[in-house]
Parts: sequence; C-alpha cells; structure tokens
Amino acid sequence: MSAPLITPRPGILNIEPYVGGDSKIQGKDQDGDKTSVIKLASNEGAFGPSPKALEAIAKTAQSVNRYPDGNASALHAAIGKRFGLDPARIVCGAGSDEILSLLAYSYSGPGDEVLYTEHGFLMYPIAAKAAGATPVAAPETNLTTDVDNLLGAVTDKTKIVFLANPNNPTGTYISSSELQRLRAGLPADVLLVIDAAYAEFVSRDDYTPGFELVDQGQNTVMTRTFSKIFALGGLRLGWAYMPSEIADVINRVRGPFNVSSIAQAAGIAALEDIEFFNRSREHAILWVEKTQTALRQMGLQTTNSVGNFVLVRFDGNNGKTAAAADAYLRDNSIIVRKMDAYGLPEYLRISIGTEEEMNACTKAIEKFLKS
Ligand SMILES: *Cc1c(COP(=O)(O)O)cnc(C)c1O
Repeated sequence: MSAPLITPRPGILNIEPYVGGDSKIQGKDQDGDKTSVIKLASNEGAFGPSPKALEAIAKTAQSVNRYPDGNASALHAAIGKRFGLDPARIVCGAGSDEILSLLAYSYSGPGDEVLYTEHGFLMYPIAAKAAGATPVAAPETNLTTDVDNLLGAVTDKTKIVFLANPNNPTGTYISSSELQRLRAGLPADVLLVIDAAYAEFVSRDDYTPGFELVDQGQNTVMTRTFSKIFALGGLRLGWAYMPSEIADVINRVRGPFNVSSIAQAAGIAALEDIEFFNRSREHAILWVEKTQTALRQMGLQTTNSVGNFVLVRFDGNNGKTAAAADAYLRDNSIIVRKMDAYGLPEYLRISIGTEEEMNACTKAIEKFLKS
C-alpha cells in the first residue's frame, strides 16, 4: 500500500483516544427504561443540573441565532466575584479539557517534555502528544502525588507540569505546603498547571486549590470546571485563573467563540445557586465516607478520597477481580469505571450518585463478594 498523501504531524497517531465512562449497557437500554441503569462512571452531579441553570438554558435558547460574547465578560465577572479574582485573568473554555489542551499547545512542542503523575488524569498525556511533546510520568507513592519524584523527573526539556489536586482517579491530594514546595522546586521557566477540578468537594484545612500560587508568580495556572460540582458536564464549561501574560497567550489561540451563549448563561446561574452547590457538596462528602466505610467493612481497600468518587481495590483472590466485579455490576445495571487505562487494573472507580444508587451499588458489591 502506498503511503497516504495527507498525514498528521508526527506523534498524533500515537495518541490513544480518550475513552469516557460508558452511559449505556448493551441490552439494558433498549427497553426505553433508561432510568433503570445506574451510571456511576464519570463523576457527574448526582442530582442532575441546578434548576436555576436549567432556567437559564431555556431562556438563552431563544437567542441562539446570535453569536455568544466572545470574551464571556458576564461569566468572567461572576466567577471573579464568587472567588475574589481579577476577571481579566480568567479564561473560559469548552470544558477545562480545552484549556489544558491550549496550554499544552502554547507552551510545549516537539522535543519538549510534559510531566504528570503516574496515575494522573489521562488528558495530560493526550494533550502533550497532540502538541508534539513527550509525556513523562513521575511515580506516585501510595497512590498519591510524590513531590520529590516529580522534581526528580524534571529535565532541561521539561516545559509543563500538569497536576490534578485532588487527583482523579485516586481521589488523593497533596497539602498546600507540598504544593508550595513543588512550585518552589521547579525551575521558574516550567509552567505548573494545577487542575483543581474537584476543589469544591475538599473539606481539609491543609488544602488549597492554588489561587495564591497563581498570584505569586508568572508561571502557575489553576484550572477549574463546571462539570463536577456544578453538574454541567454536557454543556462543556471550564475556566482557569492565570497570570495576565498567559491569559494573553491563550486568548490568542483559543477559538473566538469557544464558549457557547447557553454555557455562559448556565454557568452564571449555577454560580448563583448556592443551595444546590451546598447540597451537592454535603452529599458527596457524606457518601464518599459512607461508601468507603461500607467497602472497607467488606474487606476491600480504598484510598481516602476527597473527590466525589471512591477508588476501590479488588485483590483478585478467589476470582474476585476488578474485572469480575465490573461485569457483575453491569449485569445488575450498574456502570462504574474500570481503571486499566490508568495503570490500575485491580481497581474500580465509583462516582457518588444518589443515596439509592449508592446503596444499590454497595449491596451489589457485597453480593458479588459472596457469590
Ligand atoms: C473531570 C475532570 C476535568 C474536567 O473536565 P471538563 O473538560 O471541564 O469537563 C478536568 N480534570 C480532571 C482531573 C477531571 O477529573
């Protein structure tokens, strides 16, 4: 066969396409009864979207013939007000995934290395490879970011460090002092991207999403999302707080209308719905605890998750592997996330759903272990 005439840049075809959590089970969703499938695979909001966001979506739908505000000014102002930030240093994207990609494209390329942690979010190596850079994974310790290992993996080719804190899928985090130690140990010309997608769920005194690290220099960015606690994953809306020099760069490379008018309006409304936010937060914290406790009582190991999901290990004794547990759960119409792609084949990640869904899931796992 002759070589194709049109070929992508080197490295693109080495990318393993990102595979999201399933939302269907074959044979289970054809009966029109979609609600019978329990989906705990993508860390989505347990309660559906905020009613206020839904109202804003319906209202804005009337004017979708109009282009959105390309600068998302009202949304930047609302985010700035909520978090006490300068709106001019906020950039929004079609999900924080888009912002992570734009950062990789803008600050790394062929010959450069992009560093992340061993079981870090899969978008980091994807974004690095798409930019032509080489992703480099630093080992974790006890499924937790190891600052010394990250610093030890830095070379003169390192351009970006992507760190999810808390991390998905491990649910673990490093303290604000460890984060400071990482920033202080990195060369000043290495961009640190703190992905704080789950920041709102963390209730630990020694945690910081990283605002102050962004403020203290010109080389740190913090990304956030409306997909998790704000429950708007389907709309694609994320944001980042960054030094003005970096905001200027991203504003040059992003699509001029990268955030839809509906997403902008829904984001503003979701920020205003404090009751929904608090309810979601308390629910996740409570059910992470309850679920981890229940799983540990069954003899399973879990991490200490501070996200809206738990990571549970199946040791494989008597055939009780993670793969077998996943198959059993699917047979019972429950979808969780297998972790092979994250290098964690013994684990399943279970997102926090409603009380009924969580009880159904833990009951099914208990039955599986006894089967
Ligand atoms: C879910 C998630 C995101 C958010 O992605 P969006 O593109 O904003 O939906 C980012 N980082 C991590 C670690 C995540 O788990």
